[in-house]
Amino acid sequence: MTKRFTLIAFTLSLFATVTLISTQNQGDPTLTEVWEPSPAVITPGDWTSAPSDAIQLFNGTDLSAWTGLDNKAMWNVDDGILTVTGGTGDIKTKEAFGDVQLHIEWRTPTEITGDGQDRGNSGVYLMSRYEIQVLDSFNNRTYSNGQAGSVYKQFSPLVNASREPGEWQVYDIIFLAPRFNDAGGVTAPARLTVLHNGVLIQNHVPIKGSSVFIGDPTYEAHPPKAPLLLQDHSNPVSYRNIWIREL
Ligand code: MG
Repeated sequence: MTKRFTLIAFTLSLFATVTLISTQNQGDPTLTEVWEPSPAVITPGDWTSAPSDAIQLFNGTDLSAWTGLDNKAMWNVDDGILTVTGGTGDIKTKEAFGDVQLHIEWRTPTEITGDGQDRGNSGVYLMSRYEIQVLDSFNNRTYSNGQAGSVYKQFSPLVNASREPGEWQVYDIIFLAPRFNDAGGVTAPARLTVLHNGVLIQNHVPIKGSSVFIGDPTYEAHPPKAPLLLQDHSNPVSYRNIWIREL
């Protein structure tokens, strides 16, 4: 009985001591609470629509937010879907952006034509310069750093998360613009994170410069904001539900 009592008393005193020490170590827990600023309250999208604080870049009816060759975006808009009209040129947003979160849904043609880089090729160019490849990469081998989800000729996607041609796919992109000093030197490269159909395929990669077809990419200093550009690669790739949030 006495032994048991002693054990209980010892346990209780040990507990009290540990509690006292931990309280002394941490002090006032409110000292590490941050209340201001309070994050803005927004309404998240329902997976088919944009969150309340996003800029809708394609509203499903017209290309009023876009421009292109001869100051006109000439891609086809039909039934809420935007489709590349081959030969009419790339299109780009009228508004310029720097650090952003971008959501863009895309679909390569159901009818398969062409091979490799000539099958469902388009591209999402952040700041009109840094391309995330759009391609039908479902059973369509090409160079890894040129398949869907690659930072074109710089970084292969971590996995191939492609859906079948004709199905809608999603890129959720977090992009940090490069920083330049007054002399035009890079003080911080652009950074890119991409989820393809909800799967992480680019993890905060440091972009090496403007996307180029031939040779090594290099940086050329540019303004802190530039338009988002979508590529006309002559293949009838479709887009919908394009929204962007400035960070
Ligand atoms: Mg492309």
